[in-house]
Amino acid sequence: MKNQLAETMTKADRLQKVRESLEKDLPNLPLGDIGEPTVPGDGSSEAKIVFIGEAPGHNESIERKPFVGRSGQFFIKTLAAVGYPRQDVYITNIVKVRPPENRDPLPEEIRAYKPYLDQEIEVIQPKLIITLGRFSMAKFLPLVKISQVHGRLHKVHWGTKNIFVLPMYHPAAALRHPQTSKSFVEDFQKIPRILEWISQKGDNVLQKETENLDFESSVKHALFS
Ligand code: URA
Repeated sequence: MKNQLAETMTKADRLQKVRESLEKDLPNLPLGDIGEPTVPGDGSSEAKIVFIGEAPGHNESIERKPFVGRSGQFFIKTLAAVGYPRQDVYITNIVKVRPPENRDPLPEEIRAYKPYLDQEIEVIQPKLIITLGRFSMAKFLPLVKISQVHGRLHKVHWGTKNIFVLPMYHPAAALRHPQTSKSFVEDFQKIPRILEWISQKGDNVLQKETENLDFESSVKHALFS
């Protein structure tokens, strides 16, 4: 009966369940006792792209919605300019409660909130995950430097399957440094072509145990030649 119910649930229903379990578990989670609310993911349950940021800030905590402050507005404007309105994508964070003074999330916080993020990804099954900043990038690509890999599509083994991950700078970093802002906008301009490449060749590439080098050069060839 329970399984039958799970099968008839829509993706939106399943995301709602994730939000409810986050809410219920909050008292036992790190940051659960500081009086800040949970800020769950937001957007389309049918999204092709999932964006993952770091943690909510002041404005996000008030509105209980990711990326609504200054850096969020810059991110959403840049995204809309390349053809994706906010409501067509899904936006979430690795840590779902605002850390004190907006400090960086701690490893134990990232670990504790991981199941909720993993479930969001599992439900949505996006074609592409775009990480914003080094903390969410490290979930999939722990050994790289963002300055070296931003804007480059990666095939990553995650759980039991391969997925596509595109690391990007965090919009707050882009607001602080003009050169990062330029890279941020240029990287976003690649999204439509990358998604098109994924829809044509992605499944094949994901299934093959392709050598990284071959994969990199085939994407580069497809995208940038
Ligand atoms: N920065 C983030 O990483 N996430 C938000 O939701 C807002 C700002």
